[in-house]
This record gives sequence, C-alpha cells and structure tokens, in this order.
Amino acid sequence: MSIPIRTYDAVIVGAGLAGLSAARELKKRNHKVLVLTKLHPLRSHSGAAQGGINASLAEKDSIDLHMFDTIKGSDYLADQDAVELMCSKAPETIRWAERMGAAFSRDDEGKIAQRNFGGQSHPRACFAKDRTGLTLLQTMFEQADREGVDFLDEWYVSDIIYKDGVASGVVAYDIRTLEIVIFNAKAIMFATGGYGRAFKINSNAHANTGDALSILARHGLPLEDMEFVQFHPTGLAGSGILMSEAARGEGGKLINSKGERFMSKYAPEKLELAPRDLVSRSITKEILEGRGVGKNKDCVYLDLTHLGEKVIMERLPELRDLALTFLGLDMIKDPIVIAATAHYSMGGIPVDITGKVRMNANQTTKGLYAAGECSCVSVHGANRLGANSVLEALFFGRHVGENIAKDLDKENYLELIEANESDAKNAIDEIEKILQNNGDEKVANLREELQVSMTENAGVFRIKESLEKQKKILQQLKKRYQNIRIEDKSKVYNTDLQEALELGHMLDFATFIVEGAIAREESRGAHHRDDFPQRDDDNFLKHTLGYMDKDGNIKLEYMDVVLGKFEPQPRTY
Ligand SMILES: Cc1cc2nc3c(=O)[nH]c(=O)nc-3n(C[C@H](O)[C@H](O)[C@H](O)COP(=O)(O)OP(=O)(O)OC[C@H]3O[C@@H](n4cnc5c(N)ncnc54)[C@H](O)[C@@H]3O)c2cc1C
Repeated sequence: MSIPIRTYDAVIVGAGLAGLSAARELKKRNHKVLVLTKLHPLRSHSGAAQGGINASLAEKDSIDLHMFDTIKGSDYLADQDAVELMCSKAPETIRWAERMGAAFSRDDEGKIAQRNFGGQSHPRACFAKDRTGLTLLQTMFEQADREGVDFLDEWYVSDIIYKDGVASGVVAYDIRTLEIVIFNAKAIMFATGGYGRAFKINSNAHANTGDALSILARHGLPLEDMEFVQFHPTGLAGSGILMSEAARGEGGKLINSKGERFMSKYAPEKLELAPRDLVSRSITKEILEGRGVGKNKDCVYLDLTHLGEKVIMERLPELRDLALTFLGLDMIKDPIVIAATAHYSMGGIPVDITGKVRMNANQTTKGLYAAGECSCVSVHGANRLGANSVLEALFFGRHVGENIAKDLDKENYLELIEANESDAKNAIDEIEKILQNNGDEKVANLREELQVSMTENAGVFRIKESLEKQKKILQQLKKRYQNIRIEDKSKVYNTDLQEALELGHMLDFATFIVEGAIAREESRGAHHRDDFPQRDDDNFLKHTLGYMDKDGNIKLEYMDVVLGKFEPQPRTY
C-alpha cells in the first residue's frame, strides 16, 4: 500500500476555539496551514459553552483581581506567570472577538454585559445569552475560513511522527474512506479539547475522548496534573448534561430534601457562587448523608423559579430548553434536579508559556505545540473558575499560533524533516489489529465499565482503597481490550473502528488520572482525598508529571509551581 505524504508549514489538530484561533493567526502571517478535525469545526465542544468568558472590563474590577480569583480558585497550583498573561490579555481578547463579529449581550447602557460566576470578586463573565461558545465558535470559523485556512474535517488523527524531541508530522485517516495519509510539517499543534468521557456522568461531547494525550504519552512524552478533574456542580439528573453556572450566576438556589438552602453551611459568604470544587463536594455530601431528592435520592434541587419568565427567557433560554427536553421540567415553574458531573480537565499536555510541549520539567520539544483544554499551561491549577476556559482556548490558541508563526520565521529553527511511508507503520498496525482481531470483548461494554468505575472510584471523593481498586480495574480492562472484536470490518464510515481507537486512548490516560491521584496524598482543588483532607503545601505544592513506558506502567515526577505575588493562603469562601 502506498501512503500519500502531504506537506505543510503547520498542521493543527482540532477545530475548536483554540485550533481555529491559532490557524487564523498562522494563515494571516502567510504560512501554509492545515486544520485536521474528527468533527466538523462547528460541532467542536467549544460550541457547547453556555455561560461566558471572563475579562475585567468594569471600572471596579481589575486585572489583579482577576488574577487573584484565578489563583485562589486554583488552590495555588496555577503558574502565576501564565495566569498574569491570560488575565492581562483578557479585555483585549474580548474586543478582538467582538471586532471579528461576536455579538455579546449588552447591559442597559449598551456596554458588554457581565454576569456573576463562582469564585469571582466581581461580575466578570461576558456572554451571548447562554450560547457564548457557539457565538465565538461561529465567529472564529468564519474568520479562519475567510483567511483561506485549509480544513480537512472528519479526519481522525491517530499518531504523531516524533523522534528525539522533534515532531515532524501526524498520521491521520479519512473517516469516510479509511484512506491513511501522512501530514508532514515543520510545526504540529494539538488543540483537541477535554476528556470528560472517561466518566459515566459527564457534561462532555461524545468526541471528548482525550486522543492527543494518549497519542503523545505513547511516545514517552509526559502528561501533567492529570489527577485534577473538575466535577461541575450542576449536571441534569441521570445524564450529567450541563446546566451552566450562569444558572447560579443569575441567582439559582440549591435546595436539599429538607428544603434547606444548604450552601449556607459550606460557604456562608459566597453560597451557590463558591467555586465548583466546593459546591460539587457539598452537593455530593448532602446526597451521601441522605438529604438527596429525586427517584433515587441522588440529586438536589436547583431552583430558578423566583427569577421569573422574563429573566429566564432572556438570559437562560438554552438551559430551559435542555431541562424541558431531558427532564420534562420547566424551570420557570418548577425546580429542576441536578448532581455533580465530570466536566473539565485541568491537566493535560504540559506546555511552557509559549505553547511548546515539554519533554520533562526542564526541556521542551521542537516543532510540537498545544493549546486549549488538552494542554496544561497551567492557568487553572487544581480547580478552574467558570468562564476562564473559553478565555484560555481563545487567548492561548491565538498566542500559540503567533508563536508558531514566529518560530517558522526564524532562520534554521524549524526545518522540514521529510517523512517517509514507514512513519505510518504504527498507525496502520493499530488499525489493522483492531479490524482483524477476533476476540470476544465488545468495545461498548469495556467503555461502560471504564466510565462507571471511574465515576465510582476516582470521582468527587477519593480514598486510597478506591483508587487502588480502580488501578486494578484499569489493568484488567487494558488486558481485555487486547481481546476485542468489532462487527464492522468495512472502510466506509467505520465508527466501530473509531470507537475502539478512542477507547484505547481513554484507557491509557485514565491510568494517569488514577496514578496521579494515588500519589497525591493531600486534598487540593478538585482532587479530594477523604484520607488526606488537608492541603499539604510542604509536600505537594507542585505539578505532577507522569510518563508511560511501553508496558503501560506510569512513572511520576514533580515540577515546581511558578509562584508570584500571590502567596498561598488558606482558601475560604
Ligand atoms: C457543556 C459545556 C459547557 C461549557 N461552558 C463553558 C463556559 O461557559 N465558559 C468557559 O469558559 N468554559 C466552558 N466550558 C469549557 C470550554 O468550553 C472548553 O474547555 C473549551 O471550549 C475547549 O476548547 P478547545 O478548542 O480546547 O477544544 P474543543 O472545542 O473541544 O475542540 C476539540 C477539537 O479537537 C478535534 N479532535 C479531537 N480529537 C481528535 C482526533 N483524534 N483527530 C482529529 N481531531 C480531533 C475535535 O474534532 C474538535 O474540533 C464548557 C464545556 C462544556 C463541556
């Protein structure tokens, strides 16, 4: 079989906000750039972001306050240089998006309206009703397309060409035909989004399977802070579909079976507007202690009825539709039922502040970059504040795009290392093996077991025994994965094959989550260990870097946090 090789200056994997804003910058600077994406760009998960994007625009607000809230929210694990860069560029990022055509909601004076979000000292989230991500995604796609960026959508990237610290391409196949192609480039950027699908109850799109993380990890590259998975407080009962934090920002109340507004016990000042880690733990605790509501007593109420029809229809129309469709409840008249849902990945592919992927704590790779939710730069540390992630994707996407363009312009820095057909061998072997395997395990069953057990054993509350149990479950699942059989052996739209590849990726990165969580014997941000309930700055004010060997074993190292003007303090709300 002969494998076509196509050549570009830069190849970007992912067409969400991070990938699109990078691609547009590169094209504007006259580089030949291709975006590969397994979905149509407008179906990227960025389009599901409802609530908002942070920027300190108001007179009483400031960049320092935005930084402070972000760092305190992160439980002091965020790198303060990266936070400073993002927060100081946030106002400009909003104006940039607006000039390109993003229509933000307005206040009575005609200024960009801003709503309250958890853990913020000031209403700071700019929004377009409750369709903020979609508005921004449409704008960015339009603008990237207008610049003439090349797109190949419904292409699945399954491997990278990487040797001795240098990346020179990716291997991908056309989902329509299974045609395998090598994309050879001087620079590769990953912008593949989050990995919430490793959990049963989650708010994420089906595509959020963390492919890039495992693709890089299989080449010996590290993953950072994987134990920090954010559980959003308000997922719809049963499914985990998101009720944006905007619902609490607009005044939503959380009520238990006794009719108590229970957040007054856990966060007397901020109540429902405490940060997500704290609210999720409070909800879960109420349920565990028997004060849950709903058929299985595994939810609490989110009550918005006091807001009235006008506010709900003007500011939360999408949320109302979702609750009507999936619960049959009209939030104008009735409280709806919610529980915590796996939502966001703070950890990911470690990058330095320019977007270069790290090889280890001291060295970066060449020609390899990442931005957005798949990366860890780390602006969110141990817990992300609502409305900081769309900002991260949009700002760092653009910033990394600019940096790649600069690196491409440097003489003798990024040169094309010519690829040859043998570079596709790994990817072809993996695909052939899945197509030909005749075992007796089904992908859907293994995935269900993975998701259910991750939610149970590595969820909101963790303890050594549950994590050790999960480690064993993952080892067994990986063994059974070697024995799968898919029914569809054809080359046309083979979704069985894609789901099998995705499951392989999920099993690999899930191991990093569990190993990182076992080793981190403290509670910080979203990582809560019942057996170590306190934060331990002496031993754990540091980032985890995990490396996987050929047998799937994980080795952990630690990397210093970049501190700055905000000294670690006890975190109260
Ligand atoms: C329901 C929901 C609501 C949210 N609301 C908010 C909010 O209000 N405010 C906020 O700040 N944050 C919010 N977030 C988080 C935020 O939306 C995301 O973190 C951010 O949009 C991620 O952008 P991204 O560009 O990194 O990735 P995504 O938008 O997820 O895009 C990933 C891209 O990678 C591609 N891809 C992945 N794997 C492959 C592969 N193997 N081959 C080819 N292509 C691949 C996909 O096709 C896709 O184009 C929300 C998240 C969810 C799930």
